[in-house]
Amino acid sequence: MLVIFHPDATGPQIEAVILRITQTGSGTQRVDGAEQTIVGVIDADRDHIASLELDADPGVDRVVPVSSPYKLAHRTRHGDQPYAVDVAGVRFGGPDPAFRLILGPCAVESREQTLEAARACVAAGADLLRGGAFKPRTSPYAFQGLGLDGLKILAEAREETGLPVVTELTDLRDVEAVVEYADCIQVGARNMQHFPLLTEIGKTSLPVLLKRGMGASIDDFLLAAEYILTAGNANVLLCERGIHAGATPARSCLDLAAVTVLKEHTHLPVIVDPSHAAGRRALVEPLAMAAAACGADGLIVECHPDPSNARCDGPQAITLDTLGDFCTRVRAIAATAAGTVAAA
Ligand code: PEP
Ligand code: MN
Repeated sequence: MLVIFHPDATGPQIEAVILRITQTGSGTQRVDGAEQTIVGVIDADRDHIASLELDADPGVDRVVPVSSPYKLAHRTRHGDQPYAVDVAGVRFGGPDPAFRLILGPCAVESREQTLEAARACVAAGADLLRGGAFKPRTSPYAFQGLGLDGLKILAEAREETGLPVVTELTDLRDVEAVVEYADCIQVGARNMQHFPLLTEIGKTSLPVLLKRGMGASIDDFLLAAEYILTAGNANVLLCERGIHAGATPARSCLDLAAVTVLKEHTHLPVIVDPSHAAGRRALVEPLAMAAAACGADGLIVECHPDPSNARCDGPQAITLDTLGDFCTRVRAIAATAAGTVAAA
């Protein structure tokens, strides 16, 4: 941590701050520049130093943290190597990663709709099946999902297709049920900072697909992952799904820089959800291609047998007849980006 002083800070003001720091047991290193003085805090008890609120002290311009606020989510904790998350035998990320596609409907609406979608997904080459049994809806009057019945339908779809299943958990009371039926627990953007939920999920042994909140910074996102990691679950897939950014023409602004930045900071795999960022079908493939091109470890994409009559997110659902070609095109981009296809 660095304490940077105003150019007009006085000697006694600087000495007073140094005294407060050393009283916590931390050391200091003072550098008097031509214009400003900077004091480095050495071996700091980070929380203790933060509680001093030094940026409010007379003469202090600002306090800049140097070490990362998250520990277990930091790459250096893993020998600076990417880490593979295994979802029922499907590996995401890690060294020599395969590009993964998670496909399926937004919501489990019925047995027929889910099985029809699941058959198309496996035929198109999906690695995992998605489908929401518990839907976090903006309106309390909107379709909330089939709940436990939805989980059973997903399990049946897995049985038939062999695709492992990822589904969203929205409520602490449903942890056991989701663990019983699913292969991977999704935490939605709205719940990224539902800290008790993250902690409970961290106590389970299922891998977790954690979506980035619509207003979350990269630090917020990785600190949310940290809740799961500190509770004992090391298997977190990070998912960029678009952030709210004023004048975006899509539903959300897909923050693709986050893919690279996350990979710089963490060993955890990073996937992208183009569907919820797009909000409408025509934008899904261009965003999916861009995500594949910039090195995402995979995508999660919504599809539906009859999007115009979908109970949730129909406008962004890819139709089942176009799913196969979509996957082929996106995989080709991912292979080129990974350097596994020679440039023409
Ligand atoms: C979803 O995946 O269906 C979903 C609700 O996504 P998000 O949490 O990103 O809005
Ligand atoms: Mn959806």
